[in-house]
Amino acid sequence: MTEFGCRFCGAPLSLVVVDLGMSPPSNRLISANDDQPEPFFPLRVYFCERCHLVQLPQFQTAADIFSEYPYFSSYSKAWLAHVDAYARMAVKRFSLSPGSLVVELASNDGSLLKCFAEASIPVLGIEPARNVARAASSAGIPTLTEFFGKSLAAQLAADGKRADLIVANNVLAHAPDLRDFVAGVQELLKPQGVATFEFPHLLRLIEHVEFDTIYHEHFSYFSLECVLAIFAAHGLTIFDVQEVPTHGGSLRVYAARTASGRVPSDACSMVLSAERAAGLDRYAGYADFGQRVQSAKQSFRAFLQDSAAQGKRVAGYGAPAKATTLLNYCGVKSDLVSYTVDKNPHKQSKMIPGVRIPIFAPEKIFETKPDYVVIFPWNIKDEIAQQMAGIAQWGGRFVVPIPVATLYLAS
Ligand SMILES: [Zn+2]
Repeated sequence: MTEFGCRFCGAPLSLVVVDLGMSPPSNRLISANDDQPEPFFPLRVYFCERCHLVQLPQFQTAADIFSEYPYFSSYSKAWLAHVDAYARMAVKRFSLSPGSLVVELASNDGSLLKCFAEASIPVLGIEPARNVARAASSAGIPTLTEFFGKSLAAQLAADGKRADLIVANNVLAHAPDLRDFVAGVQELLKPQGVATFEFPHLLRLIEHVEFDTIYHEHFSYFSLECVLAIFAAHGLTIFDVQEVPTHGGSLRVYAARTASGRVPSDACSMVLSAERAAGLDRYAGYADFGQRVQSAKQSFRAFLQDSAAQGKRVAGYGAPAKATTLLNYCGVKSDLVSYTVDKNPHKQSKMIPGVRIPIFAPEKIFETKPDYVVIFPWNIKDEIAQQMAGIAQWGGRFVVPIPVATLYLAS
């Protein structure tokens, strides 16, 4: 037994889904001259027997984790195409007009809201990380630098700011106080308003052994079953769901106030039965996951050790949070992957936490001509393989690290 209680229902947590050992905060990149010791926290995922929520206990405050955030949405082309298509769909499906209000929670650098603003629809971003919020404001997207929850929602509602559409992409998993966050959404919606949420689907994480998407900033790992229950407890009904390919397989759910009388679509029951068939609603469904994660680690390490034995040189591409989990759990340091590169200048000349692999600008790959380039953000592997296609000039190959280290040929 632990002293941890479930983030949703409060039941004590004792059933471990997987234990990834001790890991540093994944987005706390280390400066080149920083020789201070780093904090490490247990990365142990639990299953709640009562409500089935899969989750990590929280070790740091949200302010520690999210006040500066090195991720800028606008650095991924695939993501920009995704949000543009979303905005066009939402304007049509929900008949949004210059009289509507679109609010985005965790609006990052404003790249999604920009799509609505360009269609003359009023927008408001809410983003706790100061650096990305500043970038949004200077791009003309009104942004509040605050954590979202019930009290902020009530304040906005009192000022006459209720939303026709609330967008919350990849933020539900990061909400330390899940109940307060969902209660805030209910409060902020107009009576007939709609909220959409995107989050990585637990079904895909388990199926494809995406263990590197487990990190401290990511508190909850959702099935539709759990999201339905959490929303229902706060007066929200999920009336539709779609599977979207982002982040290794995500769900987009559509929610409205239960009082609005919307009826759930057939898609909801289809996803629920797929989850039951995979055993996500019982602890036995997770029984072999830890073993599959260990096999993935062995496969990645064997590939790197064989490459080193053959005198091949290996570099990485990208410095996402998932690289921190992968490299720390697999014990991979700069003797096996000598460096990685990232387009985001905020990450360059820093190091991956824990394993301290240095991060350079992408040009470094063309200067040093490594034999293999490991793509850490495998969720956008096509985009990266296209951008870096030039490595073929010297016979360089791409490698995708999980679930089995595999040479990757761009499609
Ligand atoms: Zn629970």
